[in-house]
Amino acid sequence: MQERYDHKIIEQKWQKIWENSKAFKAREDKAAKKYYCLEMFPYPSGKIHMGHVRNYSIGDVAARFLSMRGFNVLHPMGWDSFGMPAENAAIQHGVRPKEWTDENIASMKTQLKRLGLAYDWDREITTCSPEYYRWNQWLFLKLYEKGLAYQKHSAVNWCPQCATVLANEQVEAGLCWRCDTHVEQKNLKQWFFKITAYAEELLDYCDKLQGWPEKVLVMQRNWIGKSIGAEVDFKIENSD
Ligand SMILES: [Zn+2]
Repeated sequence: MQERYDHKIIEQKWQKIWENSKAFKAREDKAAKKYYCLEMFPYPSGKIHMGHVRNYSIGDVAARFLSMRGFNVLHPMGWDSFGMPAENAAIQHGVRPKEWTDENIASMKTQLKRLGLAYDWDREITTCSPEYYRWNQWLFLKLYEKGLAYQKHSAVNWCPQCATVLANEQVEAGLCWRCDTHVEQKNLKQWFFKITAYAEELLDYCDKLQGWPEKVLVMQRNWIGKSIGAEVDFKIENSD
């Protein structure tokens, strides 16, 4: 018996067995209780970093625990692969955005597989593939038809370095969260979703979320942005 744990031999052996037997495949089974375990998909920016390892280890523990408890667990993985970073990196490296994105996906997928995470890789999706985003487009058209997607001019947070619009949560002390460049305000015509039509419903659901950290709930409530105004009484000098 070897005294030292040889991770290369042991992990490769078991990962191969899991892959060949499709150990983490979600199968249709009406009798089993279902559990959908989804972590945020990574942006295919190059290599897996420790933040990914932390996040995906937590999801992996939950997925494995529940499948060992008899749940039919669907634990998929995918790539959040649209946006300006791919375009900017492509310009910088003189390659096509698709090449840069596909290469990063391939190397990050190899890294995630070496971590032995319990994913059903048959369900892998890539948001920049037409088979996937045709459904985003379909959904957008449904919202547009109902008047829930519309255009107007509005001031936005703009990072001149990333050449992209940032959400309020992506601006930290006036700086871009990605590159620390000073964020500017820019007036742009842009698309909006009329989430205010669902403000009450969304707020009701915030109250029903059990075990969520209060700071996340506050962020959600602020994002929903319901405002009922304020009433203030002022005394007028020399008047009743
Ligand atoms: Zn930036």
